[in-house]
Amino acid sequence: MTHRIVIVGGGAGGLELATRLGKTLGKRGKASVTLVDANLTHIWKPLLHEVAAGSLNSSEDELNYVAQAKWNHFQFQLGRMSGLDRELKKISLSATLDENGLELVPARELSYDTLVIAVGSTTNDFGTKGAAEHCLFLDTRKQAERFHQQLLNHYLRAHAGQSDEVEQISVAIVGAGATGVELAAELHNAAHELAAYGLDRIKPENMHITLIEAGPRVLPALPDRIGGPVHKTLEKLGVTVLTNSAVSEVTADSLITKDGQVIAASLKVWAAGIRAPGFLQEIAELETNRINQLVVRPTLQTTRDENIFAFGDCAACPQPSTDKLVPPRAQAAHQQASLLAKSLKLRIEGQVQLPDYKYRDYGSLISLSSFSAVGNLMGSLMGTVMLEGWLARMFYISLYRMHQMALYGTFRTLMLMLGSRIGRGTEPRLKLH
Ligand SMILES: Cc1cc2nc3c(=O)[nH]c(=O)nc-3n(C[C@H](O)[C@H](O)[C@H](O)COP(=O)(O)OP(=O)(O)OC[C@H]3O[C@@H](n4cnc5c(N)ncnc54)[C@H](O)[C@@H]3O)c2cc1C
Repeated sequence: MTHRIVIVGGGAGGLELATRLGKTLGKRGKASVTLVDANLTHIWKPLLHEVAAGSLNSSEDELNYVAQAKWNHFQFQLGRMSGLDRELKKISLSATLDENGLELVPARELSYDTLVIAVGSTTNDFGTKGAAEHCLFLDTRKQAERFHQQLLNHYLRAHAGQSDEVEQISVAIVGAGATGVELAAELHNAAHELAAYGLDRIKPENMHITLIEAGPRVLPALPDRIGGPVHKTLEKLGVTVLTNSAVSEVTADSLITKDGQVIAASLKVWAAGIRAPGFLQEIAELETNRINQLVVRPTLQTTRDENIFAFGDCAACPQPSTDKLVPPRAQAAHQQASLLAKSLKLRIEGQVQLPDYKYRDYGSLISLSSFSAVGNLMGSLMGTVMLEGWLARMFYISLYRMHQMALYGTFRTLMLMLGSRIGRGTEPRLKLH
């Protein structure tokens, strides 16, 4: 029987892997490759803060799994994984419901010979009182669109208002990691664009953005030489940056810090910390850590079952040279997908000892909307190079282009770039609905 590879999660990593395996093993009939995702379409997660601010229309940058599967010789199954039977080598998918709560696709089971889990992560609110009820999160396209809608509603209400009072909006973002910082800059840009389109009862200077970070500086996971210039740029844009301020409670209209500061905010976004989906917690007795990540060996095989691989944000992968884990980043998911495309081919050919994954940090780039980007690039030939401004912005955009190349190939990526350039002349620069 043909070897059955089932990949669960069609995100930054899983979709690249399914596409690569489909084009090789699937096309040649050496394995059947099935991708499972809880949604019908994919959007690259690092774009979600742009969806939230309205600078990106998600329906233009989404990819349809059914079409991608057809073009790249793999199968797609819509469903949310909820269980695993390691003895019978089956996963269970729960039923998918439509927006009216009616069953769209029934609950079912899928058999595998090799299972790859790449279900990503969600934001971790660390159980902070009121966070789940009152904060918005940016884990999915739906959540990002909800934020955008709420932002726009504030502007539309103000636009319809008759009073002479100065209209204001306050946005508080918890977490000054890459997501929080990039969202703050995108929102500053959105405030200017909305005013330029005539929704100017809230003047750009009356959008008050506060970025709250528990650690001593912005971008705590990146070197200080990146955090420093980013902090200065944010302040220049008028963003209030509070460091050493841990949020202890969220209410309907404010955030309260541990030292008693109350930050009033009509829109509140939680963008600090990650955890893997809860259903993974000790699933079928696989080893997991305190944030539900599946513990894997350097080959990306789970520690207790060599037929089950995990990678991307949902995996706790050791970095042998340090005592740190591979960071939850798109570049790690991309590198791991490339390695697994080779490893799974070797496995099907009967090789037992698989290659180890070694994380290579190519640097970090932080987008400050259309204003600039700041970051560093790392390579064995050039060492570490600091980048800022237009050049950094170009490299930042190229990260997404690399993801598109892995999914569509060079020609279609170039056509997509051309299409979006043409579209820019005929569409508003900001999504206004
Ligand atoms: C706003 C934002 C900005 C970011 N910016 C950057 C950046 O600039 N650079 C960078 O390197 N990283 C960035 N990241 C992090 C990066 O997006 C992640 O590290 C990366 O997407 C992880 O890839 P993944 O394949 O592990 O998971 P994901 O890309 O999250 O994909 C997971 C997939 O699994 C599916 N899924 C989840 N649960 C189930 C289930 N039970 N059953 C079936 N399917 C399921 C989801 O629908 C999704 O398609 C950012 C993240 C966010 C939220």
